[in-house]
Amino acid sequence: MQEDLKTFIDIANKLFEDEQNNPVTAPINPNELNQHIDLTLNDNPIAYNEFVETLTKLVLQTPKTSSKLFFNQLFGGRQSKAVLGDLLSILLNNSMYTYKVAGPQVGVEKEIINKICGIVGYGEESGGTFTAGGSMSNFKGMLMARDAADLKIREQGFTKPLTAYTSIESHYSVIKNASFIGMGKNNLRFIPTNNKGEMLASELERQILEDIANGFTPFFVNATAGTTVLGVFDPIDEISIVCKRYNLWLHVDGAYCGGVIFSKKHKQLLKGIEKSDSFNFNAHKMLGTPLVCSVIVVKNKKYLYNSFSIDADYLYQTDGDDFNPGKTSFQCGRKNEALKLWTLWKSIGTNGLEDMVNHLFDLSKFAYNYVNNHPDYTVYGSDNSLSICFNYKGIDASDLCTALYEDAKLVVGFGNFRNDKFIRLVAVNANNTEADILKFFEELENYVSKNENSFLSTKTKTK
Ligand SMILES: *Cc1c(COP(=O)(O)O)cnc(C)c1O
Repeated sequence: MQEDLKTFIDIANKLFEDEQNNPVTAPINPNELNQHIDLTLNDNPIAYNEFVETLTKLVLQTPKTSSKLFFNQLFGGRQSKAVLGDLLSILLNNSMYTYKVAGPQVGVEKEIINKICGIVGYGEESGGTFTAGGSMSNFKGMLMARDAADLKIREQGFTKPLTAYTSIESHYSVIKNASFIGMGKNNLRFIPTNNKGEMLASELERQILEDIANGFTPFFVNATAGTTVLGVFDPIDEISIVCKRYNLWLHVDGAYCGGVIFSKKHKQLLKGIEKSDSFNFNAHKMLGTPLVCSVIVVKNKKYLYNSFSIDADYLYQTDGDDFNPGKTSFQCGRKNEALKLWTLWKSIGTNGLEDMVNHLFDLSKFAYNYVNNHPDYTVYGSDNSLSICFNYKGIDASDLCTALYEDAKLVVGFGNFRNDKFIRLVAVNANNTEADILKFFEELENYVSKNENSFLSTKTKTK
């Protein structure tokens, strides 16, 4: 092990150096991978130095998600205290189903969940668990809602058609989950938004009434805190009133921006969150922990047990339910995803998490002002969002993003809202500064000015 740890540190140092010198890895044509790196698995062992050489090559040619020029998806950067915790969880290799096997790591998980329940404003009965990601958290929320609507569905399957509601701008996992829980995708209703991309509570109510009149049983509403493209917040407070009126489960998908619970300054974006039945957020997005770090909390933990606990005597041999978190999880063996958030939180405190969140909003405001005040940019979406959406000089967003990627200049993605297509810059790397944001625009503008001719033909495609 000592030799491999030394190798780890050597490769890590090379990666850190390369992140500075070559922040964007030149992409490899997927059909030519083996010409660049020997990925083949063979019958015979290879010499250690050759092994290390190949491994180093593989690491250095992998896209760099922690560099300062990575703005592609809703994660980025590297919080070193969280990395430390994650590395230790790998060394410890506990499975998070029982206290017998995970010991104080169960306490780590419980402390985080209790803390988050308190911040959200859930009461004494609340609970939660770590999941394999936001999609899985949304799945668990929907499944608990199904069983809360009718516990017999677990044994008998559906005996009447249930309907669920989510905004047209919500994450695609909600659609997949509608099929996974057996209700059928066709019984998921997509509620329109206002022109900022926020769900219209009035349209929600209208659709619920229509479904009731047609013999359906509405049971679940998914509200989004930070929509995947525009990063805007559905009006949780207004939606909660509709949910209460028709006795529907309200789940808040905060995978992207649920982290705002840590900020006194921005928390009003989640106004009404304490009235929800379940809420999730990904610490691997706003809080910069390594993937995956996703928490779901529920106002009444009995629903977690109702949906996820099958008594398995061979497994649960000691301690009470509260210390055997396997009774609330989907999987059996489960990686310890809590320690990395705990090491980060322990080291910088709740105030440190708040500073990170506030910093991300400051960075995004800075980026928004830059594009908004610059005549060559067209801006889309909200001025209070971590997603800054724009087009530059009328160039087609997907063409520009792809060219920047292929020429290893910047890693950034594009998105759509209604009829507009645009570049989406995300401010989720709390290690970034305003200078890094300016560097992004400088790279983009320099690239376009050097290649302007090749973009002329694409302009017409942009709306
Ligand atoms: C990222 C995201 C998800 C999915 O989370 P994963 O951890 O990638 O599964 C769900 N909802 C929203 C709003 C997201 O932005």
